[in-house]
Amino acid sequence: MVLIDNTFNFSGGMGDSRTAQRRFVILHDTGNPNNNGNNSAYNEASFMYRNWQNANTTYIVGWDRAYKLSDPGYVSWGAGDANVFAPVQLELAHYADRVKAVQAYRNWVDLARQSAKDFGITLTLDQGGAATAGIKTHKWVSDNIWGDHQDPYGYLSELGISKQQLANDIAFGFDAVAQSPIANPNVIKIDTQGHGGVNLLNSKGQYLNKFLPNGTRWKVAGSAVINDEEMALVGLNQFVPIKYTDWRGTVVRVIHEDGGVNLLNSKGQYLNKYIKFGTRWKQFGVKLINGKVMYHLGGDQWVPKMYVHLEN
Ligand SMILES: [Zn+2]
Repeated sequence: MVLIDNTFNFSGGMGDSRTAQRRFVILHDTGNPNNNGNNSAYNEASFMYRNWQNANTTYIVGWDRAYKLSDPGYVSWGAGDANVFAPVQLELAHYADRVKAVQAYRNWVDLARQSAKDFGITLTLDQGGAATAGIKTHKWVSDNIWGDHQDPYGYLSELGISKQQLANDIAFGFDAVAQSPIANPNVIKIDTQGHGGVNLLNSKGQYLNKFLPNGTRWKVAGSAVINDEEMALVGLNQFVPIKYTDWRGTVVRVIHEDGGVNLLNSKGQYLNKYIKFGTRWKQFGVKLINGKVMYHLGGDQWVPKMYVHLEN
């Protein structure tokens, strides 16, 4: 559950008193690249509170909490003619810190899912036209109803989160398995080393009896730890074990340039031991820590996948 902060709740006379039709939950990002420090959500909520008559949404979602402005169920003013159909609209705050950015993303998806469930709205992303209920991006509203805003896909792509991954996360959430967005859109090649195709699994580790042929290439939207191994997300709730792909590797190489990468222990605490850009380290396994995929570097030292590549 996402912590809800009521510091900036609208008081009497603020906001729109109309009840919204229960058709959409609308997703935005704050779209302000100059406000991307650790308090960016607080700053956005404070600004919106003071300027609510220009625009307002239900929530501003940050890395450690969501600020509630107006009450869920009522019309807010984030998406023009679509406002009357949206009992909840959520803005994702920006963070320069990638770890906080991913935490905020997960909170935003969690709260969107919970909001949709609360109002009986289906957990689909950007499906159909104006009459089709579901979770919608502001871009979808522009394409199908009104306006020209394109958020949140530009910011999500900066985080390495594709539309496919957002749809997957909206549909399935992070309960069963936590997926780590990867640094760049990526492709894997199936490499079964002489065997036939590889059987896909779902997030619960059940075989789907859908096979990817050896040598084929697939777009990857993220990765997860399922049955104690790392698997790449190649379709809606469809995973391939990376040991059967060209992603596998016994060594990690650091790809994060700024100041190196701070290692963590298995409790998710930072060790303030840094490994430098370009260095290579043997890895001994994989685990989810704080909901993120991390590789074991020996002792109780772990490095987040998002800062390294696997190599041999
Ligand atoms: Zn927007």
